[in-house]
Amino acid sequence: MYSPSVGVTSTQTTEYGNRLFVYEVVGLSQNTDNDNLDYPIRRSGSVFITVPYKRMNQEMRRINRMGGRIVSIKPLNADTPLQVSSNPPKPQVVEPPQSNKQPTSKSMTETKEKATIPVNIYRPNNPYIGKCVENYPLVAEGGSGIVQHLTFDISGGDLHYVEGQSIGIIPPGTDDNGKPHKLRLYSIASTRHGDMKDDKTVSLCVRQLEYQHPESGETVYGVCSTYLCHLEAGADVAITGPVGKEMLLPDDEDATIIMLATGTGIAPFRAFLWRMFKEQHSDYKFKGLAWLIFGVPYTANILYKDDLEKMVEDYPENFRLTYAISREQQNKDGGRMYIQHRVAEHAAELWEKLQDPKTHLYMCGLKGMESGIEEGLSPFAQEQGVEWSDFVRKLKKEHRWHVEVY
Ligand SMILES: Cc1cc2nc3c(=O)[nH]c(=O)nc-3n(C[C@H](O)[C@H](O)[C@H](O)COP(=O)(O)OP(=O)(O)OC[C@H]3O[C@@H](n4cnc5c(N)ncnc54)[C@H](O)[C@@H]3O)c2cc1C
Repeated sequence: MYSPSVGVTSTQTTEYGNRLFVYEVVGLSQNTDNDNLDYPIRRSGSVFITVPYKRMNQEMRRINRMGGRIVSIKPLNADTPLQVSSNPPKPQVVEPPQSNKQPTSKSMTETKEKATIPVNIYRPNNPYIGKCVENYPLVAEGGSGIVQHLTFDISGGDLHYVEGQSIGIIPPGTDDNGKPHKLRLYSIASTRHGDMKDDKTVSLCVRQLEYQHPESGETVYGVCSTYLCHLEAGADVAITGPVGKEMLLPDDEDATIIMLATGTGIAPFRAFLWRMFKEQHSDYKFKGLAWLIFGVPYTANILYKDDLEKMVEDYPENFRLTYAISREQQNKDGGRMYIQHRVAEHAAELWEKLQDPKTHLYMCGLKGMESGIEEGLSPFAQEQGVEWSDFVRKLKKEHRWHVEVY
């Protein structure tokens, strides 16, 4: 069990960071003073270098600098070599959302060219070891819970991704059975170019899971989210992926992109909106309509609030922002304002937009959102004589219905 008041990151990172791995390296030549090797170099054949987990990336870069090639990596005392991170396995390639299958009725937003989407470049048995470069709070004073924006340096390997994908994080330490923790997935909150616009980082938006144990009543903190929310700049982090092709953004610059988010469900939409409005690209200039309906409990919980509102100011024709602030706003029946109430309020307009093959609907955030959206839209569909399930099936078939809930 974790408590945010204990030094979660320092002790566990150290314990994990001390796991030892053996690199088998060929072709090394020591030629700079900086390389300060503490192992002998043979002219031919392999050199075996023992490296603690926390220094794996650093050591790989040093070996590369010295012209060496890593031919295998083994955990110390393990028989099976891991795959080599400096020369990672060729990523599986999948095609983008609308072009991987031929829908019966083709969406107007089919990608013009078949771009390639990277998946599983790094797997759990061979994670990429990134470094935390930034970790700052997103919840303003008076808001509920802890939500952090984290950025990791991924410059030392081959990790790359596109908007709408997720990465896995393997928290350090072991579970109750003494086995290494399993990875947890997090939606990527940055564009493919990263927050520094240099293609060398990946960012996440993470909420610390906190709940009362149903039997003991004790407060329980989630393992990985607590680890991440308290991660210090400079700390190593084990990353897998990227994964996911459900939430990809169509290439069509004239598309209508309706985004429904609750809490950290904003993450992939931050990536979309940054690509549409904050970055400049020669091959993508968004001219369509993006509409974000964002559900949070309090105004202080509106993640990336200033950026979102600045985008509305700068692009009033192309970006629309609607909040559902459950603890501060009331729905028409006097109850709390949830996202489905906003959807119901705008049902006619949403319905009309969804008839256009250029419109995509995305949902990300809390499990159960999908039924909430159905609650908001299906009565309207019924009024039009359309069965809700048939309508959703049609949108799915056309690759215009994108859901990621957790
Ligand atoms: C595709 C995908 C994308 C995701 N993106 C994000 C993201 O962008 N940001 C983000 O913060 N999270 C995201 N998540 C969720 C994330 O993967 C983790 O599930 C989350 O951070 C909790 O992990 P943890 O290790 O902290 O919790 P754990 O220690 O794994 O605890 C989780 C477990 O606690 C128990 N539990 C949880 N709540 C309760 C409760 N109220 N009562 C009783 N038991 C409970 C359940 O058994 C649950 O399985 C995403 C998940 C998926 C699948």
